[in-house]
Amino acid sequence: MTNVTELFGSMVFNDRKMQERLPRTTYKALKKTIKNGEPLDISVANAVANAMKDWAVEMGCTHYTHWFQPMTGVTAEKHDSFIYPSEDGQIIMEFSGKELIKGEPDASSFPSGGIRATFEARGYTTWDPTSPAFIRDKTLYIPTAFCSYTGEVLDKKTPLLRSMEKLSSVSVKLLHLLGKKDVTRVTTTVGPEQEYFLIDKKMYDQRPDLIFTGRTLFGAPAPKGQELEDHYFGTIKTRVAAFMNDLDEELWKLGIMAKTKHNEVAPSQHELAPIFATSNIATDHNELTMEVMKKTAEKHGLVCLLHEKPFAGVNGSGKHNNWSISTNTGENLLEPGKEPENNLQFQLFLAAVVKAVHEYQDLLRLTVASAGNDHRLGANEAPPAIISMYLGDDLGALVDSIINGTEYSSSGRSDMLTGVDVLADFTKDNSDRNRTSPFAFTGNKFEFRALGSSLNIACPNYMLNTMVAEEISEFYEQLKDAEDLDAAVKALVRKTLSEHKNIIFNGDNYSDEWVAEAERRGLCNYRSLPEAMAHYVDKKNIDLFVKNGIVTEQEIRARYEIELDHYSKQLRIEALTMVDMAERNITPAVISFVNELTDSALAKKSLSASYSVYAETALIEELSAKTEAFVKTTAELKEALDNVSAHSSTSLEQAEYYRNTVFEIMGRLRELGDAMERKTSAEYWPYPSYGEILFGV
Ligand code: ADP
Ligand code: MG
Repeated sequence: MTNVTELFGSMVFNDRKMQERLPRTTYKALKKTIKNGEPLDISVANAVANAMKDWAVEMGCTHYTHWFQPMTGVTAEKHDSFIYPSEDGQIIMEFSGKELIKGEPDASSFPSGGIRATFEARGYTTWDPTSPAFIRDKTLYIPTAFCSYTGEVLDKKTPLLRSMEKLSSVSVKLLHLLGKKDVTRVTTTVGPEQEYFLIDKKMYDQRPDLIFTGRTLFGAPAPKGQELEDHYFGTIKTRVAAFMNDLDEELWKLGIMAKTKHNEVAPSQHELAPIFATSNIATDHNELTMEVMKKTAEKHGLVCLLHEKPFAGVNGSGKHNNWSISTNTGENLLEPGKEPENNLQFQLFLAAVVKAVHEYQDLLRLTVASAGNDHRLGANEAPPAIISMYLGDDLGALVDSIINGTEYSSSGRSDMLTGVDVLADFTKDNSDRNRTSPFAFTGNKFEFRALGSSLNIACPNYMLNTMVAEEISEFYEQLKDAEDLDAAVKALVRKTLSEHKNIIFNGDNYSDEWVAEAERRGLCNYRSLPEAMAHYVDKKNIDLFVKNGIVTEQEIRARYEIELDHYSKQLRIEALTMVDMAERNITPAVISFVNELTDSALAKKSLSASYSVYAETALIEELSAKTEAFVKTTAELKEALDNVSAHSSTSLEQAEYYRNTVFEIMGRLRELGDAMERKTSAEYWPYPSYGEILFGV
């Protein structure tokens, strides 16, 4: 039996270990740094580094690494050993404060969006002392932020940390104005629910599309998909359960509060949700969770797919970003309480979120845009590409009453009578769920549901924090000199909600009527990454980040270039993989099969002209025609790939070309390939089928 309480955090240099191992004054100084965000003194850093090293060495570590989150979309690490030459020609294990605080990975091969020429290779990583160090694979991991020698921010973590600071400082000012003088810090909390697929490694190894791109580029649907709805919350298969148990233990060791696990809608799809944490820790933990999922799957002969759309025809995977704001005094600022109609503080923070989501809906849309997520948003399995907010009946009624100046009466929580004596009656939540909304209020937090499964959550969260911080600081400016504060708050809430009510939509986000209605309301509907990303560099958005000190204009432009470039490269890899599969495997396989059919027909006829060759000739005819079209479309795709530069001079044009031209041909090629798969003997088809992959585990 696993002792979970003992296991939990055993691989983390957490608060308890710091207390045990650090001199009292050092511990106190470090805590102060963490609590107030103050710079770390070098003598404190030396003591912490030494204690960390001693612990790591006792745990069998020989190396440490500054672990960071560059713009590549995956985490990065460079390992250094603790060894240090001693005077007697031997070695000692050493780790200084300087090494803890600052690392210098060669930054030249990380994307910088043109900020930095490759000869200016130097980059720095700096320890984020608010996120604890941990051990993996005999290495001490130190969570860090990453910037260039000249100070430009090259990662996803730094803007997140800055946005948290900003939201904290402006919220504290507003709360002080409202009389909450004991609040000194406000933090954002996040609980990301992570979806993923698990498939057999033997199947995976036979699919170059999965290996190179993370998704299947060909694949006819299996006779069964998700239509019986028998997988969602279904019994977990033994092999998957073993993986999940192992995963939980690995995550617990790393101090990650893995809490909920279940089967998801699509066959072979699952979900894991942790208990929420402070945004930056939640971000580190989510990155770690994805990595540990992959490694743990390997141990079980499985592969964990984190792509947003590994299989056509069944749901893809997303990530729900549950987000809230709370004070150091333990108050959740998005908790409506028993009487939300009289809770002006709640109304003010709610109004700030409503205004932020309305004014910066384009940013929320583009932060979840990716080549993978383009397959989901708007495909009636994930929220639509149109960003709107769901408040539920109760809060919706409150907002209406505020706008219209009418009396609000809460329907309140009602008792759920089960009607069965042995079952306890319970209280129902005051709002039902709206699964189709991209941004839903769920009791005391918002659930941003448009994220793709592989996304680093730092990005949506720093956008969200920054836009809400901007609104709160505007509110503060408008309220700070008010004579009658209550009246001023009420007026401001009413004005804000009236002006921004267009972002609130409580209906079915999948309906065609909503698309038309959203257009009437002037909401954005960006269907793909290039469409959305074009707005990253709109003046309004640059102003937001620059004014709040999150990233500079140059850094935004760099990020914009990196995102577009990454998208184009991903589509190019997908197209090249398709060409490779088509030319080297699919076409030859079908030709061989047709050859066998022809031999069979000829052999039959040479035996007796009376034998029917109906089946053979029908198949020969159909497959020959399809193969011709397939080969021609493959050539078309190759030509399109050769002509990229002729059609585009900027990275935006290039991404648009990939989306509008290359992607369109890929769709047609796939259709032909899948039709050929349906008609070709399984013996000849070079790849495992959807049926084998999705129902094999
Ligand atoms: P629901 O019933 O609305 O799905 P859960 O309690 O199951 O809510 O939570 C879903 C996710 O939201 C979990 O990861 C949970 O930790 C997270 N969560 C709960 N409260 C908060 C909060 N205040 N801030 C951020 N995330 C939260
Ligand atoms: Mg969910």
